[in-house]
Amino acid sequence: MIELKSPSQLERMREAGRIVAKVIEMLKKEVRPGITTAELDEMAGEKIRQEGGKPAFKGYRGFPGNICASVNEEVVHGIPSRRKLKEGDIVGLDVGATVEGYFGDAAVTVAVGQISQEAADLMAVTQAALAEGIAFARPGNRLSDISHAVQRTVESRGYSVVRDFVGHGIGTELHEPPQIPNYGKPGFGPVLKEGMVLAIEPMVNQGGAAVEVLADGWTAVTKDRKLSAHFEHTVAVTESGPEILTRI
Ligand code: MG
Repeated sequence: MIELKSPSQLERMREAGRIVAKVIEMLKKEVRPGITTAELDEMAGEKIRQEGGKPAFKGYRGFPGNICASVNEEVVHGIPSRRKLKEGDIVGLDVGATVEGYFGDAAVTVAVGQISQEAADLMAVTQAALAEGIAFARPGNRLSDISHAVQRTVESRGYSVVRDFVGHGIGTELHEPPQIPNYGKPGFGPVLKEGMVLAIEPMVNQGGAAVEVLADGWTAVTKDRKLSAHFEHTVAVTESGPEILTRI
């Protein structure tokens, strides 16, 4: 069952989304060579609380961080640590917040100083794939129309979409039905309806699609250790089209 959110529920989800967007905006400015992912994590936790929310990932199935910070070949779920970011790295920052029981979830991949053209291209494709997917989040479309738009954008430019992790519905839980794969034929799955709220999140690899989880039980990395990028927004399906609740 995909829960449809009422206007008053959507109002609360907008607030959660607003906080997530604010935190991401701040983190983007803080990313620089020499800063550690633990420092970013600390700032994010503080900012979320300042804004009246709670970090949604902290303690989720035992996750130790306020945010996920995934560097270079790390795909998602990187644990913030004393690792210092260095010039040329790319870092995926995934932020979740909850306010009055409602969740917001978004991610960006950020350049650390000057990065290679290859890394910049990967980030651009991933962001474009997210935008293409979001454009299909309208009443009357099918869920897999979103999936297909993401996959087509990524693969037509020679990159791979990760299949082991997917987007998700979101609301009073961080992860609600439906699952939203970043691949698939168009025209399948549930018909999208006004009031659905979806976290759409392409994870795109420079090399192959295969990923593996490191011994810490969380950090997903590309099997070939090539770069990966991740962008995500929480999006409400409304009568007038997609509304990005985490717009930065
Ligand atoms: Mg998510």
